[in-house]
Amino acid sequence: MPITEDIICITCPKGCTLEVTREGKTVIKVRQGCKRGADYVKRELTDPRRMVATTVRVSGGLHPLLPVATAAPFPKPRIFALMAALRDLDLHAPVRTGDVILRDALGEGVDIIASRDIPVLE
Ligand code: SF4
Repeated sequence: MPITEDIICITCPKGCTLEVTREGKTVIKVRQGCKRGADYVKRELTDPRRMVATTVRVSGGLHPLLPVATAAPFPKPRIFALMAALRDLDLHAPVRTGDVILRDALGEGVDIIASRDIPVLE
């Protein structure tokens, strides 16, 4: 049986509230918003993903924490597992902006990238 609910689109800063009629994970109709919003709703129901930004510990550097981010949206149900994997990393300075800190994180095809330089502490 179809249900209708509101879903907030987070694709752009406008943040439209979309009225979505769906049956299970099958979208029947999306009211308001644009084509990108309709695509977001389909993705959100079948394979929700988020960009993730956090920090990881780094030893021997000018700063103890390195800001990192996913290179692409990461599967939402596995974000806690990703955070645990990042907690277990053993990084050493120097680190350069754009370095791949963790390649193919959890086998999801998404790399984790350094967001700043961490030079060696002299
Ligand atoms: S529906 Fe379109 S305009 Fe509205 S927030 Fe989503 S992408 Fe932006």
